[in-house]
Amino acid sequence: MATSAKKKQPKRQKHAPQRTCVVCREKKDKRDLLRIVNNADDGVMIDLTGKKNGRGAYVCSSATCWDKVKQTNILDSALKAQVGPDTKMNLINRFQELQKEMGITG
Ligand SMILES: [Zn+2]
Repeated sequence: MATSAKKKQPKRQKHAPQRTCVVCREKKDKRDLLRIVNNADDGVMIDLTGKKNGRGAYVCSSATCWDKVKQTNILDSALKAQVGPDTKMNLINRFQELQKEMGITG
C-alpha cells in the first residue's frame, strides 16, 4: 500500500507501452490493461482494439479495480462522462467474459 515513494524510473528502451490504471494508478504494460472508451457512436465500452475514437481510460485486469469501477465514480471522472449503473454492469460483465476468454487473471 505505502509504496508511493518518488522513484525515478530508469529509461529503458522497451517496446511495451505503459499506461496508468485509472483506479489503482499503477503503471502497467498496455496489454495488462483494458481500454474503456467513450465513443460518440457506441457509448462507453471496452475497446479491445485500442483504436476507437473518444476519451479513453485504462483499467487493469485486477478484479479489485473493477469492483471499484462498479462502486465508485472513478470512471465518470476519467471519461468525463456520466456512466450509468447499467453501463458499468455491462462493462463489468464484458470484463468477466474477457477474463474467461483470454485467461486474464487478476
Ligand atoms: Zn488497477
